Amino acid sequence: MKTTEMITIDGSLGEGGGQVLRTSLSLSMVTGTPFTIENIRANRPKPGLMRQHLTCVKAAAEICGGQASGAELGSNALTFVPGTVRAGSYKFEIGTAGSTTLVAQTILPAMMLNGEPSLIELEGGTHNMQCPPYDFLEQCFFPHLRAMGVGIDAQLYRRGFFPAGGGRWTLKIEPTMALKPLELMDRGDQTRLSAEAVVSQLPKSIASRELKVIGKTLDIPYEALVVAEDTSSIGPGNIAQVKAEYEHHTEIFSGFGKMGVSAENIGKNTAKAAKRFINSEAAVGPYLADQLLLPMALGGGGKFTTQRPSLHTTTNIETIKAFWDVDVVLEEGEKGVWTVEVKA
Ligand code: ATP
Repeated sequence: MKTTEMITIDGSLGEGGGQVLRTSLSLSMVTGTPFTIENIRANRPKPGLMRQHLTCVKAAAEICGGQASGAELGSNALTFVPGTVRAGSYKFEIGTAGSTTLVAQTILPAMMLNGEPSLIELEGGTHNMQCPPYDFLEQCFFPHLRAMGVGIDAQLYRRGFFPAGGGRWTLKIEPTMALKPLELMDRGDQTRLSAEAVVSQLPKSIASRELKVIGKTLDIPYEALVVAEDTSSIGPGNIAQVKAEYEHHTEIFSGFGKMGVSAENIGKNTAKAAKRFINSEAAVGPYLADQLLLPMALGGGGKFTTQRPSLHTTTNIETIKAFWDVDVVLEEGEKGVWTVEVKA
């Protein structure tokens, strides 16, 4: 930890998106450091706090009995003074289709290091564009937290798509006193490659068309392509996901259905991202790379290989360093594989 005196964070840092705020909230709760953030999401088309970010602030404040000023929709600045983290049962509702997975990621570091178990119930979006879909957390991120010593169990009751939201899931957390280091230099051999496309209140043909392109591009046999109809979600929605399973890691690539974008294009772009990863020798994909940094910094550090680090990753590193004494070394190796080493 660096200090418990108030620090000022520039929200326009690097990518200038919502992650600067979320990482600041997470680390403020864990370290007890108050912070003021200015220029919140300055580089986004609609800057300031949106509903999802506001829910993150409120969730953080509730869990640690913290004080937040400037916590209003559209606000460009916020001061957060954390209190003491309390484990227990909590429910957070976004009220729109805003991402619940990002709310979960914000409060998780404090809950997983807190001594007592917690149960969190979340309502809102579960499969949102530009956010980790529920399945990604459950199958790609949580297994590594378990390897680091956290007991974590998630259960999805209903998907929530944009714009209706209404998704619901729970998260049980059994904390650890000290996170173990994570070493993921090699993903191991591929054990399975499959894809699933889900539709809610939309024709199943959308899912079939997405899978047709994905199957052809990635050479996935027909039996490993699954069309699923979600009958419990409260609004229309569609997601296509490629799942690449390896001995030491499972990676999921998601394409989100969007009005005006053809099913073929969603299939093509999802397959393209998956192909880049499959053809590389990186252990984890670019999204997980930015998400692993915080637990690794808070624990015993470690290292992993990934594809070229995103601006999101480098921005997250800068934000973490503002609160926490840690060194993160990014090194480019052969064939576009990078090593990220967190020296905690
Ligand atoms: P904004 O920047 O508009 O405030 P935001 O708060 O929703 O947006 P970002 O700052 O862009 O979020 O952060 C998005 C997070 O979601 C990142 O951690 C990124 O790794 C993750 N993410 C985005 N897309 C995917 C995906 N397809 N699969 C897994 N994770 C994803």
